[in-house]
Amino acid sequence: MKVFGSSGVRGVANDDLLPRFVMQVTQAAGAELGVGRVALARDTRLTGPMFADAAASGLESVGCTVDRLGIAPTPALQAYCERESVPGVMITASHNPPEYNGIKLVGESGVELTQDRLERVEDRLDAGPELADWSEVGDSRSVETARETYREQLLAAVPRQRIADAELTVAIDPGHGAGALTSPDFFRELGCRVVTVNAQPDGRFPGRKPEPIADHLADLARLTRTSDADLGIAHDGDADRAIFIDETGTFIEGDAALAALAAAELGDDDVAVSAVNASQRLVDVVEDAGADLRLTPIGSTYLITAIRELQERGRRVPIAGEGNGGIIFPGYRIARDGAYTAARFCALVADRPASDIAADYDDYYNVRHDISYEGKEQRDAMLDAIEETAEESTADLDTTDGYRLDYGDAWVLARPSGTEPLVRVYAEARAESRARELADEMAAAIEDA
Ligand code: MG
Repeated sequence: MKVFGSSGVRGVANDDLLPRFVMQVTQAAGAELGVGRVALARDTRLTGPMFADAAASGLESVGCTVDRLGIAPTPALQAYCERESVPGVMITASHNPPEYNGIKLVGESGVELTQDRLERVEDRLDAGPELADWSEVGDSRSVETARETYREQLLAAVPRQRIADAELTVAIDPGHGAGALTSPDFFRELGCRVVTVNAQPDGRFPGRKPEPIADHLADLARLTRTSDADLGIAHDGDADRAIFIDETGTFIEGDAALAALAAAELGDDDVAVSAVNASQRLVDVVEDAGADLRLTPIGSTYLITAIRELQERGRRVPIAGEGNGGIIFPGYRIARDGAYTAARFCALVADRPASDIAADYDDYYNVRHDISYEGKEQRDAMLDAIEETAEESTADLDTTDGYRLDYGDAWVLARPSGTEPLVRVYAEARAESRARELADEMAAAIEDA
């Protein structure tokens, strides 16, 4: 049975994601991960304690000993896994709305499990649990220090002096997620002046929804401007992503931030890894650096698998990521880390204003439409409509993941979301009207269906 999508298991809690299922998945995962110690953490969702208890039960029932970290960012769990050489289970639905929850599995190197390993967990799920004898079941212990040691590790991994010398003010919006418990302290320890909004952990997400998109960040934009901050930083629910606002209160496109960070990292013969919705901005940066670009299906699991393949072939991959703020610096860890990414961006802001950095990538326009469907029939009709549109067009077609139509001056991509009942349409061009035209055309064809 296929249970792991492009970013783990996700669903609406107590509707399509049940505690029983979380227990079954963790029983299978515990067996695959070797029935030793396993770390367990969660984000701030209201259903987090319920699912964490189910996960702990599942792990203990197959004989695992569980280190319970409580609320922590996914990258904090990954740092713990790497440090302690133990695998981990993260209860999170990342950027999804509050009613969702889900599971991510982490290996003992602190890296999310690769596709083939997830498939082995799925096989074990089909075969049923291998329960431990009553006298061999595991137990749990509470670990209180994981967030603090994560911050210490971060401090040691980033250009600390350069950031401290710049005496930056940062406005942080953790969006009531797990980053609320780590990022404000981390940036204070880095020597920044810190102001915050939505910085109380709250599973109802009263101030804003967990996804750090421009529509959700008006409060952060205002705070950044009015507090004279050099940079606004927003995370998603599990703080593995970072999205930025410049010092004027203007939203910086995730693709522009990725391109700026990539421009600082990439050299001759390096490889950057991104997803099939990669921006022309990144394509241009990679070309300027004399590097190569590898595109994968959308979702961190695919990027991670590609990074490992490239590294095994001796290629250097200094940066990978998507335009949603999920960026991987493999030299640090093959994992997305919102706080680390934001600190690396602060190091750029130490040299020149954020608006200046973003201006290099200004003359590109992105348009995105989300079209929701109800049931398989509507979904299939939409996919047929996309295929028809693709066949009728004169553009180059890439079907790595969904349908990417490349027109030379612009591109449009249509694909069903891996985590929600939505078909997403993305378009990019140097002129806004052109991007809008392509996205609207594709969206109209899908909506007609
Ligand atoms: Mg996330």
